[in-house]
Amino acid sequence: MTGQTDPLDPHVRARSTMEGSTRDLSYPPSPEPLAVAVYDNHTHLEIADGENPLHYREHLDRASEVGVRGVVQVGTDVLTSRWSAAVAAREPRVLAAVAIHPNEAPALAESGELDAALAVIDELAAQPRVVAIGETGLDYFRTEPGSGRDAQLAAFEAHIAIAKKHGLALQIHDRDAHDDIVATLLRVGAPERTVFHCFSGGVELARACAEHGWYASMAGTVTFKNAHNLREALEVLPRSLVLVETDAPFLTPHPYRGRPNGPYLLPHTVRAIAEHLGADVDEFSAQLSANTELVYGSWDAHPVAAAADVPGNPLDLSATAGER
Ligand SMILES: [Zn+2]
Repeated sequence: MTGQTDPLDPHVRARSTMEGSTRDLSYPPSPEPLAVAVYDNHTHLEIADGENPLHYREHLDRASEVGVRGVVQVGTDVLTSRWSAAVAAREPRVLAAVAIHPNEAPALAESGELDAALAVIDELAAQPRVVAIGETGLDYFRTEPGSGRDAQLAAFEAHIAIAKKHGLALQIHDRDAHDDIVATLLRVGAPERTVFHCFSGGVELARACAEHGWYASMAGTVTFKNAHNLREALEVLPRSLVLVETDAPFLTPHPYRGRPNGPYLLPHTVRAIAEHLGADVDEFSAQLSANTELVYGSWDAHPVAAAADVPGNPLDLSATAGER
């Protein structure tokens, strides 16, 4: 299982360095700190990127220095969901979201392993610092019509049920699937706190969010020059429903698009949105923090365990825990 992993590499997975042959693989400099701190409500600290990937603690330290005081660390499969929960249990700046990603669900369904994987997610959801089920949803960009999409829908509905059972927030992955996501939420009933992670809709989806009280989490994409739909969406969204995220190591904000991302780059996204809305950056940051705590609760609500450190590589965690 671990044979393909370089033992010196602290990360289990790496973002492909093939996308764009001329990608700059160095981390951008830190932005000017925000005066009022915010949270990154969706990040993947274990996914390595660039020529010198940061350890998750280095990510958190760099974030703290620029006014990003906490993150929601998001799992995408059993291994990374376990890791996310383990880090959140020990690290005060981290809360966890756990799920089987819609791009992982079809293969697991095919091999008959999806139910067992969902049972692990249900079990992790009971931990006090696991505050969301996600990312889950539908990805029509990567999955063709047919059995793969059926598996995604079944997994999405199962995750919604787990979120409701445990009273947790839901983080939705929606790629080219706005209508079916909305229809599913309305059909089965959305959890009380439902977040469109990396909001990618326009005015129409923003109006649905406003109508139903769903949150729109803006990623670095909102800073891209061609992202007019996202900025138009912001204009119809109540500010009480706006969140921000990095989805690091992906979606690095302008002017560093394409380079490795980290929660410490979130201030670029916050400032770009505030500028677009004509809002005061400090007031907007305060609003974002209040919104985030309404969705996930306080990062201090459940104390962390003073247990041994969590390895940076999820594979090492499962090895030490002697898990199947
Ligand atoms: Zn993500």
